[in-house]
Amino acid sequence: MITLLYIEKNMIVTKDKEGGRMLEKQTKLLKITAFIVLLIIYGTHVTDQVQAEDNSSKKVLILNSYHEGLTWTKEETEGIMQTLNDEGRNISFYVEYMDWKNHNSEKNLDYLYDYYKYKYEHNKVDLIMATDDVALQFALQYGEEIFANAPVVFCGVNKESAEAITKGESNVTGVIEVVDPTETLKIASEINPSLKNVYLLYDNSESGLSTGNIAVTEIEKFNPDLMVESWNDLAFEEVLERARSLEQDSIILITTYYSDATGKIFDMDYVNREVCAQSSVPVYGLYDFGLDRGIIGGVLLSGRLQGENAAKIAGRILDGEDPDDIPISAPNSMRTAFDYNELQQYDISLDALPDDSEIINKPFSFYETYKTLVLSVVAAFIILFVFIYILLFYIRKIQKMKKNLAENNEELTQLYEELTASDEEMKQQYDEIISINEKIRLSEEKLSYLAYHDSLTGLPNKLSLYEESKIIFSSKDLKAALLFIDIDNFKYVNDTMGHVFGDSLIIKLGERLTELLRYNCYLYRLSGDEFVVIWKDMAQTDRVEEYATFILSDFLTNFELLNSDLHVSISIGIAMYPNHATDLEELLKYADIAMYQAKDTGKKRYMVYDQAMNEAFTERVSIEKYLQKALEHQEFEVYYQPQLDIKNNCITGFEALLRWNSPELGKVSPMKFIDVAEDTHFIIPLGTWVLHEACGFLSRLEEKGYGKMDISVNISILQLLQEDFIDIITDALEKYQIEPERLELEITESILMESFERIITKLQILRNRNIRIALDDFGKGYSSLNYLKQLPITTLKVDKSFIDYITDTKEDDFVSHIISIGKYLGMCVVAEGVEVQNQLDYLIKYDCDKIQGFLFCRGNV
Ligand code: C2E
Ligand code: CA
Ligand code: CA
Repeated sequence: MITLLYIEKNMIVTKDKEGGRMLEKQTKLLKITAFIVLLIIYGTHVTDQVQAEDNSSKKVLILNSYHEGLTWTKEETEGIMQTLNDEGRNISFYVEYMDWKNHNSEKNLDYLYDYYKYKYEHNKVDLIMATDDVALQFALQYGEEIFANAPVVFCGVNKESAEAITKGESNVTGVIEVVDPTETLKIASEINPSLKNVYLLYDNSESGLSTGNIAVTEIEKFNPDLMVESWNDLAFEEVLERARSLEQDSIILITTYYSDATGKIFDMDYVNREVCAQSSVPVYGLYDFGLDRGIIGGVLLSGRLQGENAAKIAGRILDGEDPDDIPISAPNSMRTAFDYNELQQYDISLDALPDDSEIINKPFSFYETYKTLVLSVVAAFIILFVFIYILLFYIRKIQKMKKNLAENNEELTQLYEELTASDEEMKQQYDEIISINEKIRLSEEKLSYLAYHDSLTGLPNKLSLYEESKIIFSSKDLKAALLFIDIDNFKYVNDTMGHVFGDSLIIKLGERLTELLRYNCYLYRLSGDEFVVIWKDMAQTDRVEEYATFILSDFLTNFELLNSDLHVSISIGIAMYPNHATDLEELLKYADIAMYQAKDTGKKRYMVYDQAMNEAFTERVSIEKYLQKALEHQEFEVYYQPQLDIKNNCITGFEALLRWNSPELGKVSPMKFIDVAEDTHFIIPLGTWVLHEACGFLSRLEEKGYGKMDISVNISILQLLQEDFIDIITDALEKYQIEPERLELEITESILMESFERIITKLQILRNRNIRIALDDFGKGYSSLNYLKQLPITTLKVDKSFIDYITDTKEDDFVSHIISIGKYLGMCVVAEGVEVQNQLDYLIKYDCDKIQGFLFCRGNV
């Protein structure tokens, strides 16, 4: 046998239509599953036990005062049965209904006596549950006769009745039905604070009056100010009529009403429904069966709770307790319950009700119904949301971190790129610095090169010579030679051919000298046309002269320069280390002196320095020193040597010869100072001064009556090369009123030939102006006839050295040939330096035109 286990708290219980409680829904599948599992386990496991308990099964008779359909009765019965069953007993229930409300007569009792006697005289019950007064009375009255003195437990009987019925009886106990409207009124007063009138509806039955009186008493006790009116003396129609027009400060309280004052019987449900339907004010009740029949509610006596409470006592008795040891009690059997629909109708808020109030007919509220579930779900959701929130928070945090990381990464990437870029830049800058350094190094090299090299020839320069000489001339054990090389007449080349030509010549010279260098020989360009060769570590000093000769011989070959073929000669001065000097300065000085000596003695040669040369050099330095101021100090004068026309035997003119009477140096020969004057270009103003002096001399002669004489003036090629030379001549002639044909310009042959190209035009101009041009020192310069023919020369002056050859003993054909050539070319031939008669004779013989010389005149004119 399987016993149903009711787990009440796991069920949702609501009022059914009859006001009873019923199982409606099982909430949780889990619980159901657990329940089924328990059932199975229990069913299989306890089969034997059940079998054993069969023997101890009890018979309980539930004897009801009223009929089966009465809600109150039904509730009580269910409460009893359910409670006893819940306590796990094996009970057989017998339920009887005495139907006392409908059959309130002795006859009914008699029938029932017979009926029950028939049924239970031989079917002994273990306990009788008597509900309400009549049943209790019957059970006690016939307990011994019919029910074999089964103990009686009652319910639904008020205190007075219970006391009265059980008086003197034993083997009986139960629970008293206490009617108390006080709590209900408290709630009603709270809902409607203006409550003043309470209308009580009860019938005039024994129990009705009893209940009604209790109610009146209790209400007055609760609040004496309340007006209590009982409607038990009214017909039901009157009740309804009154109910319809009640003021709002009123309520109706229904207790039990099964008949009206006229004795008319009513069904309680009907009464409740009608009164409540008609009433203008809320209708409160005392019993819970009024619920869902129109009453608003209240603190209601529950038939089921009465049954349950009684059943608990019954259980104890069934378990063996003596009924007489269990006093009659009055446990709480009240329910605080309200009808939602009615509350709505009277616009009463649920808040006005006590917290533990049961609300029936409440529209289905998911929340209310599944509160736990909902709360659990809500809690779960909250937890879920919290989790989700936390999760989202962390996701966001992670995303933020990711973003930050990405940004950081980007920044890092950028930084890396920047670093790479700056690295690149640095590399570039490094490369630039390297290249700048390289440039600086190259510039330094270049500078150093430029500092130590001559820019024109690329040869080591003077500075280089000074630097290297420190090493070369460091040991006196070693021998060395310094060769000072200078181009002969370079001053004319530079002035006549121009600087470009002069530069090219120097470059060529440098190249040629480089080619001529020997082992241990080093070439330097000192300045201008000055070059130095140092031959270091010489084994034999005499070899230097052979080397100088070798160099000079090479210069016999002409230079090819800017499309012209040029003969260039050089002079070399040599000084020896350590014989002549031990430092460069002195060696240079001595080599320079030797070089000047070479020039003085005819150029195109070398000279090795010796002590005697020092004097000549010192003299030259002195001349140079005093020459500059000689003109302004009027230290010069001009000496005029007459020119004699041989044929007419008369003086036709004079040659102007310059004289310098230096206060410091005494009389200085033009042979010495003209060269210095040319080197310093002082010859240009000096030459002009001579020209003016000569012209002035002529005009003075004329003034003194000597007639028109001619004048020959020696002209340096440097003068001729001046741009304004022709103007200077013209100015002088004009100033002294000298006819151009009376002026003759004497130009030295050798120099003239070297500057031929440059001066030929000027000479043409001069000639065109009738100025005569004499070729001085003819014969010394090896002039080619070809040149002579091209030049506008009027006079040939045969050099004194050739005249000197004409002696008493021998006649030289050479002079006669010169005279012939001169004549042939249509020139006037003048012999100079004629000192002796036979020279004159010779010249006369060979038809020389004019003569000059000491033979006629030695002193100044
Ligand atoms: P030069 O033009 O050949 O001059 C003739 C030189 O011979 C003069 O020497 C003169 O005094 C000298 N002389 C004349 N007759 C005789 C003689 O019978 N026997 C000897 N032994 N000598 C005689 P001076 O005056 O000493 O001049 C030397 C040179 O200086 C000149 O040679 C000329 O080239 C140059 N010179 C002189 N005066 C001037 C001048 O004003 N300007 C320029 N540029 N050169 C001048
Ligand atoms: Ca002359
Ligand atoms: Ca001469």
